[in-house]
Amino acid sequence: MGASTSGSARRTAYRTCPLCEATCGVAIEVEGDRVVRVRGDEADPFSRGFVCPKGAALGDVHHDPDRLRQPVVRRGGRFVPVSWEEAFVEVERGLGAVLAAHGRQSLAVLLGNPVTHHLAPAFYLRPLVRAAGTRNLFTASTVDQMPQHVVSGLVWGDPNAFPLPDIDRTDYLLMLGANPLASNGSLVTAPDFPGRLKQFKPRGAKLVVVDPRRTETAERADEHLFIRPGTDVFWLAALVHTLFAEHLVSIGRLERWVVGVEEIRTLVTPFAPEVVAPICGIDAATTRRIARSLARAAAAAVYGRIGNHAVEFGTATAWMAAVLNVLTGNFDRPGGVMTSSPVASRIDDGEPGGRGYRIGRWKSRVGGHPEVNGEFPAAALAEEIETPGEGRIRALLSVATNPVRSYPNSDRLDRAFGALDFYVAVDIYVNESTRHANVILPPPSALEEENYELTFLGNAVRSFAKYAPPVFERGVEDGPSEADLFAKLVLILRGDGAESDPARVHDALVDEFIERERSDPAGPLAGRDADEIRRALAGLSPVGKLLDLRLRTGWQGDLFGQREGGISLTKLAEHPHGVDLGPLVERFPARLATESGLLELAPGPLVADWRRVRERLERPHPAEGLLLIGRRHLRSNNSWMHNIPALVSGRPRCTLLMHPADAAARGLGSGDRARVRSKAGALEALVETSDALMPGVVSLPHGWGHDVAGIEMRVAAAHPGVASNVLTDDAILDVASGNAVLNGIPVEVGALA
Ligand code: SF4
Repeated sequence: MGASTSGSARRTAYRTCPLCEATCGVAIEVEGDRVVRVRGDEADPFSRGFVCPKGAALGDVHHDPDRLRQPVVRRGGRFVPVSWEEAFVEVERGLGAVLAAHGRQSLAVLLGNPVTHHLAPAFYLRPLVRAAGTRNLFTASTVDQMPQHVVSGLVWGDPNAFPLPDIDRTDYLLMLGANPLASNGSLVTAPDFPGRLKQFKPRGAKLVVVDPRRTETAERADEHLFIRPGTDVFWLAALVHTLFAEHLVSIGRLERWVVGVEEIRTLVTPFAPEVVAPICGIDAATTRRIARSLARAAAAAVYGRIGNHAVEFGTATAWMAAVLNVLTGNFDRPGGVMTSSPVASRIDDGEPGGRGYRIGRWKSRVGGHPEVNGEFPAAALAEEIETPGEGRIRALLSVATNPVRSYPNSDRLDRAFGALDFYVAVDIYVNESTRHANVILPPPSALEEENYELTFLGNAVRSFAKYAPPVFERGVEDGPSEADLFAKLVLILRGDGAESDPARVHDALVDEFIERERSDPAGPLAGRDADEIRRALAGLSPVGKLLDLRLRTGWQGDLFGQREGGISLTKLAEHPHGVDLGPLVERFPARLATESGLLELAPGPLVADWRRVRERLERPHPAEGLLLIGRRHLRSNNSWMHNIPALVSGRPRCTLLMHPADAAARGLGSGDRARVRSKAGALEALVETSDALMPGVVSLPHGWGHDVAGIEMRVAAAHPGVASNVLTDDAILDVASGNAVLNGIPVEVGALA
């Protein structure tokens, strides 16, 4: 096992940083029950010693005095610490009363981004949502990457198979709306993104960044192009147009599996580079040059992220990026975009074809928004709470999320949260959202749980596996493990009672997994003795058993003794720095999971949505006025890392970036306070001028606004910033995916009177 013994002697524990998608290996030096230092793990073959300031502050998060260690219940208008037994009884009483009076649809389940970094949520949240019996599921996906799920689902049949830019082998990377030097990568797991980009020059590869801001990544690029926010779809369509016009389409190996090419040609016909140039701000000659470079590079990748996805045409933009990758022969090509080969997953190399992907199987009650991935848009939550009638949301169960800061129209949502009948939050902080809760159940610190980045190693640019035991062991007196906590909630929601033994849920999940794999004739456990499998898992924790099942039945697994040299949890634990199983390999056409078994380049729902893009081509954004975009910072991750002194020190970071000419035109300069107004709301922000902004564009980071009464995050409250989502309009969505529009928001900026 990894170095994780208790005692007061200095020791080093190795694990993966759970704070962002990069999955850096960290070496955590510990004395007794204190973390004394966190550094990058040089021996981790994937991250090679890289660590960012957030990872180095992992110990500060663990020791944060404001982190809840005990459940709290609202009594007499304030939070009172209670025992775990009392807290679960209170959850049962409160949720039970609402569900009995108003039915299951009166409950909404809200899931935040940190759940994707922990093992227990990976296994227990699906049963939790099932036990809740509600269709009101909201997650961070619809303020982030839902457009990519839709495109992956409709075009190649698997909503979770993301097109990963193969950055270690590419010759040409066209990057839009992404800033991995601040974010460390998103929808692609590639630790030490800066180091990986540094390898571009020695091998002669080119990086082109397209962004309304000259970001930290753009500064390192071979070329940076400003683009008007929200118009990437027009520009990408012009690149596709150029491929057809100049006979540069060359699909290559997968050609016989691709359908819809002629439909795409027709769709992009009106999008000539000259037509889109005044809309996007990129001249036609440059557009043609980039299209030729993409087509002629030995291997190229088009990669877009939140600046591309959290916009009015997010799905159409992600689609055009996919179309470019396919038409240039770079889809599923080393150095192009590849899909991952996660160690803890089955990979079937059989015939192409599957069940396909559907959206809109049911609709939201008020706005009629179609479900996507079984979720409703985050932007629809407030109206579902506020609007009277049957099915109105009256109770919430949230896990690791702060919607009042991360969802659109945050002032409205804040008011809506105040009107709930009952609210249970699983969270480590009393923040802007959880301050409205009736009960807060704090999960253990990440360092007190086993660690395997199941979700993000599933988006990695190499096949990599790494397991770590807890850095600190918890005693029974410290409260339930994360698995026990979720199992208790499952039992309460199922009506089995707060007193029930969580082992019932743990055992059922193991049995369910074994039976599913045994009953599949092509499955890795077909025909095996279930008791023999259960015996092989003996001695592992509940999440350890489920992880071991995934690993051992995965494509590199030992199949419980039937594949010599295969992976198991025990074997991984002998390699505390992780096991690297090589670069990504071609997986298509076998991975095609569409009903047709083909790569559907022009699926019906995306073609139908294209009408909106076409209409906007005739009716572009007015050239006047300012458009707001977001921005990331290396020391920030959404709203929850602002309570760590090392991450908020120094000059204020929550500033309104403006081009000097735009600021001067409004009588503003750096250090002034400005009034910013959108259709949804208004706020005051500190101005910082910078020619890194495209004229006509202003930028505010998100996740700030810690100046409300009732939060218990003292450091954050002393560095409040402003809540950019006050300005985000929840009435405007990317229709095809339900994703919120967080970029390209029209705003007025003026000096404070
Ligand atoms: S880049 Fe992400 S994973 Fe790596 S140390 Fe920083 S926060 Fe942790």
